[in-house]
Amino acid sequence: MFKKVLIANRGEIACRVIKTAKAMGIQTVAVFSDADRDALHVKMADESVHIGASAAQESYLVVDKIINAAIKTGADAIHPGYGFLSENATLAEQCVSNNIVFIGPPVAAIKAMGSKSAAKNIMSKVDVPLVPGYHGDNQDLQVLKSAADEMGYPVLLKAVAGGGGKGMRQVWSADEFESALKQAKSESMASFADDVMLVEKYLTQPRHVEIQVFCDAHGNGVYLFERDCSIQRRHQKVIEEAPAPGMSDEQRQAMGEAAVRAAQAIDYEGAGTVEFLFDTDGSFYFMEMNTRLQVEHPVTEMITGEDLVEWQLRVANGESLPKTQQQLSHTGHAFEARIYAEDPDNDFLPTSGTLEFLQNPPESNNVRVDTGVQQGDEISPYYDPMIAKLIVWGEDRSQALTRMQAALQEFRIFGVTTNIAFLQKIFNSQAFAQAKLDTGFIEKNKDEVFKSTEINLDSSLTMLALYCILSRRQEAKSDNPWHSGNAFRMNQPNHHRFQFEHGESIHHVVVEDLDKDSNNNFRVSVNETTCNVSAQLKNDSIIAEINRHSEKAVVAVSNSNFRVFTEDATVDLNLSLPDYGDSVSGGAGDFCAPMNGTVVELLVEKGASVSAGDALLVLEAMKMQNTIVASEDGTVTEIFFSSGDLVSGGDELLSFEAS
Ligand code: ADP
Repeated sequence: MFKKVLIANRGEIACRVIKTAKAMGIQTVAVFSDADRDALHVKMADESVHIGASAAQESYLVVDKIINAAIKTGADAIHPGYGFLSENATLAEQCVSNNIVFIGPPVAAIKAMGSKSAAKNIMSKVDVPLVPGYHGDNQDLQVLKSAADEMGYPVLLKAVAGGGGKGMRQVWSADEFESALKQAKSESMASFADDVMLVEKYLTQPRHVEIQVFCDAHGNGVYLFERDCSIQRRHQKVIEEAPAPGMSDEQRQAMGEAAVRAAQAIDYEGAGTVEFLFDTDGSFYFMEMNTRLQVEHPVTEMITGEDLVEWQLRVANGESLPKTQQQLSHTGHAFEARIYAEDPDNDFLPTSGTLEFLQNPPESNNVRVDTGVQQGDEISPYYDPMIAKLIVWGEDRSQALTRMQAALQEFRIFGVTTNIAFLQKIFNSQAFAQAKLDTGFIEKNKDEVFKSTEINLDSSLTMLALYCILSRRQEAKSDNPWHSGNAFRMNQPNHHRFQFEHGESIHHVVVEDLDKDSNNNFRVSVNETTCNVSAQLKNDSIIAEINRHSEKAVVAVSNSNFRVFTEDATVDLNLSLPDYGDSVSGGAGDFCAPMNGTVVELLVEKGASVSAGDALLVLEAMKMQNTIVASEDGTVTEIFFSSGDLVSGGDELLSFEAS
């Protein structure tokens, strides 16, 4: 077996490959760009090599840099992951000439499948069904158009060199053809420096079903069943599952055998995926073959119990396939949801930013999270904005679906906009539960999957106010009544008052401490309603008993912005006027810092006349802001600190004379 493998990739797939390599006792080398200096894949690998600037064109896409890194570290094999150089014949060639094993298919196989039309020509020779269409060399407008006219509209124009849904256009009638062709060609030119097109019959309700194949250098080939990847936005997959719902064993076998024929037709070795369109009448058509490990490979691993990266390493090492077709079987059902930093309400535009808060669902035999990031990491604009893949397994589709819903609810992210709520709406939809899948699913169900969720704001406001009080109480160490966070007032009930903003609206919450000793029982008034609550804070979670009903919320904080994750919603709230109750509002001489912190803002100047309740100074401590307010009318006679100063708990902040 190899001693050392270099992973020519980043993010979750680099981490995924490292895990298996480690388990097999193989040393690992990571490569990284400027932006990835502190990335998880670098931390996980035994060694790492810096390969250039953040832009992929200057690092992850430069064949020479990858090869040199492998030579320098003495790696005997390169795993390319997916994307980047994974289907690049030059990298595979360079590996061969430098005596490094490329963990992927032979150069000729990559080349054969690199062009969609050349691939189709090969497939037609081995009886793999193709979508009716034209995939010839003659690119004259008239030739392409008459091919389209003959097969009848709608048709689909596809860039021969295309990928990732780029360079593709639907054409619904003859008079649209010319302009659609122009657009597709220019998009293809921009993305692939090539504008050769093919024309296909456009199927209006197909499913995307693909077969995982594996071949070794000894002539063996197997299929590891299928994945349904019909849930796509912008022709890109977002949810995948295995097996494909409703597929009969006969269909599975026919499709699987066609896929193995396709692979063997090009003397394939290693992991590959043969993609088919699966039509409503059960017929299927070859679309393309991906000569690498796919993003969605974990659903296959979940139903077969096989580790596909281990298979890749063994096959690349010259071993025979670990199992024969007869030894392979599948059990249960698996889903994968791709968690992206993107905005579904803004045409799925990628987003970037810092993952201020990242809580993955707990992993188990049934729940797996493949990720390359940790809390505090940056989702940079340089690369694919995938944050993680959430994979679940169940005995059947319905159990897997329930597990996915539960796990998604426990996926909590704050800092960048994600597609989590959008994914939840898909998994919660009736159409998905009934497996009414086709590639137009999102468009067809747009009312349901884009609708805004109704939220119970009062419950989030209650939980957040309790969080603010209890987290401060937990962190406050001083015995001074001003520091205890229990809103101590001489001869007064203990009140905490908060003002939160939710979008444009403003909400007031008053929390009354009912019990000074245990500090756990409160009366909370939110907007017009009041309830009795007992609450506890555990890490980031508030567990509350509200009118004998138990509720849980997780709170993520960034400055005075909060994201509250309750059982049925995620709500963003901003603390606009902090807890007066916890602020220092005693008489003259009592204006002391309640805890160590920083003066954020002076709201008055020395000599200012103020009225009771006026805000004087804002302090930030433990990520929360405290406003110091005047308890009575008077004059600020001295201010001892400037904005930006650090103060210690107990420091006198200003002097005050009551009028
Ligand atoms: P790319 O390589 O750019 O991903 P594919 O050829 O794999 O392009 O197609 C991507 C997606 O486009 C498919 O999953 C399917 O949803 C849709 N598609 C492709 N060909 C057709 C077709 N002939 N009819 C209908 N939909 C198609």
